[in-house]
Amino acid sequence: MRLVILGGGESGVGTAILGKKKGYEVFVSDFGKIKGNYKEVLIINGIAWEEEKHTEDLILNADVVMKSPGIPDKSPIVKKLIEKGIPVLSEMEFAAPFTDATIIGITGSNGKTTTTMLTHHLLKSAGLNVGLGGNIGKSFAWQIADNKYDSYVLELSSFQLDGILNFKPHIAIITNISPDHLDRYDYKYENYIDAKFRITMNQTEEDYLIYDADDEAIAEWFKTHTTKAKLIPFSLTKTFSEGAYIKNNKMEISINQEEFTMDTEYIALEGKHNMKNAMAATSVAKLMQIRKSTIRESLSNFQGVEHRLEKVLKIQNVQYINDSKATNVNATFFALDSMNTPTVWIVGGVDKGNDYNELMSLVREKVKAIICLGVDNKKIIDVFGNVVDMMIEVDNMNDAVKMAQRLSEKGDTVLLSPACASFDLFESYEDRGKQFKQAVKNL
Ligand code: ADP
Repeated sequence: MRLVILGGGESGVGTAILGKKKGYEVFVSDFGKIKGNYKEVLIINGIAWEEEKHTEDLILNADVVMKSPGIPDKSPIVKKLIEKGIPVLSEMEFAAPFTDATIIGITGSNGKTTTTMLTHHLLKSAGLNVGLGGNIGKSFAWQIADNKYDSYVLELSSFQLDGILNFKPHIAIITNISPDHLDRYDYKYENYIDAKFRITMNQTEEDYLIYDADDEAIAEWFKTHTTKAKLIPFSLTKTFSEGAYIKNNKMEISINQEEFTMDTEYIALEGKHNMKNAMAATSVAKLMQIRKSTIRESLSNFQGVEHRLEKVLKIQNVQYINDSKATNVNATFFALDSMNTPTVWIVGGVDKGNDYNELMSLVREKVKAIICLGVDNKKIIDVFGNVVDMMIEVDNMNDAVKMAQRLSEKGDTVLLSPACASFDLFESYEDRGKQFKQAVKNL
């Protein structure tokens, strides 16, 4: 069997290792350059590869193809493969049949990484032999090749779910759905929603789907579709006999006739959105029969993930917060919503078709000054120009942070939550967040 892998990154090389181990004839093809360390791995393992080209003769003779999620279906080579009827799979689809491990799959527009990391933390702290993979960390296929874990917590993007046929998580989470990546879905929101729900398409009555019951897109989908999985909703406003909710500042979870309660003030993560993430992750922990005392301890010591509402420093009683990962309006909505003090807001970058009006009431209520940090800030200025007292444009992080210091007073918060991608002024959202933290430390 010939396995061709498109893309020589973490998931590609991991799949190559697993394929080789399982007796496939493996070929890795990358249209860009393959990183040195990955090349070394391929060479050491005697796996054939090419870079900066796709040689059709070596690709179109595949029995099966694994495509890295970064490569769109519209790319010419993928189109040709599909025309020839050759299956083009994602890493999960290829790798999952080679393990008996329990799979927990997490998707959604926002909160995937936080929920995945927290779920992993809850299970690992309880002593389970659990791996972490998918969109983050080490390749899932690679970990299976090394044959390590009894269960896996996987962060799954819609692109990874596009490439599944039979893949089925025992426990699935959809954190929420809001418009994102529409360029890859023919600009049709419903196609993107359908992609997210592929996470449950192969689930059976033995499996579970945990989802945000406050989410409009999810509620709409359920009006016209069904799943066989047992449903576990979570909500900030509703209550359930089976599900998770917040009532009187307590997180209440009721699953399979078992109850779990915890005061939200003891949960280390902050903000309403993080209470949702905590409900989702804790529901998994309950399904995996983790002891209540262990769950409580883990929720009280999980400090969150870098660049997601990350507290940086308090300087002259002003709290600086790095939320560089907020690359869309929905993420920024929850960031502003969780502010408890007057806020100096640093926003801007590459806008993916944002509707800033969704933030209007929060901005009126909480934001005292806006610092625009982008090449083109016109839209932000048009929407909020008359709403806040102070509005300033800058073109680098040092100026943004210095300005923020000047505009803030004791008791305020300075929040970097851009609602935009970072590529106009930064290499990545990580680079943007790191520059912010460095600039704050330099104050
Ligand atoms: P993802 O992996 O889906 O991008 P992250 O956990 O990295 O999600 O968080 C991305 C951004 O979304 C951060 O700014 C974070 O504060 C915000 N966020 C996290 N959880 C949620 C949620 N449940 N709803 C909305 N926004 C969220």
